[in-house]
Amino acid sequence: MISFKDKVVLITGSSQGLGKAIALKFASLGANIALNDIAVQEEKLKKLKEEIEKNNVRAEYFLADVSKLDQVEKMVEGIRNRFGRLDVLINNAGICQDRTLAKMSKEEWQRVIDIDLTGVFNCTKATLPLIVQNQGNIVSISSVVGQRGNFGQTNYGAAKAGIIGFTKSLSKELGKLGVRVNAVAPGFIETPLTERLPEEIKTMVKKLTCLGRFGKPEEVAEVVVFLASEKASFVTGAVINIDGGLAI
Ligand code: NAD
Repeated sequence: MISFKDKVVLITGSSQGLGKAIALKFASLGANIALNDIAVQEEKLKKLKEEIEKNNVRAEYFLADVSKLDQVEKMVEGIRNRFGRLDVLINNAGICQDRTLAKMSKEEWQRVIDIDLTGVFNCTKATLPLIVQNQGNIVSISSVVGQRGNFGQTNYGAAKAGIIGFTKSLSKELGKLGVRVNAVAPGFIETPLTERLPEEIKTMVKKLTCLGRFGKPEEVAEVVVFLASEKASFVTGAVINIDGGLAI
């Protein structure tokens, strides 16, 4: 049985969707949880903190925009002060701003790169000393779009492909320190991010997915927790698809 008792896990962008499901799963396995999101999500974070504490674990939330290194460093200082350690980083925060390249503004390009890719750099860089201290590990949320591309998502596809290159390179740097670095590539999962997709796109995606449906956030959380656990002690530099067969 997997246990994260006395471990501390930071999940970025965790007030809703995949991040929330991942936080709840870690908490159910005994981890203390550092939640993170941007200020407009504070009410959701407060409620989630209470829900997590029902598992008899500690939960704190830290407001920080992952694209801003100074805010991320303040968050990590907060984690150090409140918990005294960090064992696992889940780079989950992300957005999409879809438009064909012909119509995409420089701002739309930059915002997605800043949050989805530079956010991963910022959070990993700032937490690294704590993670190395405990021989912890890192799991980042990429996407099938980073492997296969998608119409209207050049910015998102580039950022998510960037996470894969980042993960593989960092796993080579940190292996000798006993730190594992992995990623997952979800397909289409039922979250607020995909809720707003037009019905015809949802139908098309389901047709292309071997299992014929969208995934559930809990199905992503199971794999993320496995990768972060001792059960995956010889897994590093890996990208695991959680996509119902969409990418094959
Ligand atoms: P979501 O929109 O429900 O959740 C994303 C969270 O990130 C939100 O709470 C949001 O406030 C937060 N966030 C946004 N910008 C932030 C910032 N600058 N700093 C901190 N937090 C920020 O989306 P989701 O579906 O739960 O997606 C979570 C991750 O999974 C994202 O990286 C997304 O790209 C990835 N993903 C999702 C799917 C899917 O089908 N839902 C598929 C593949 C990958």
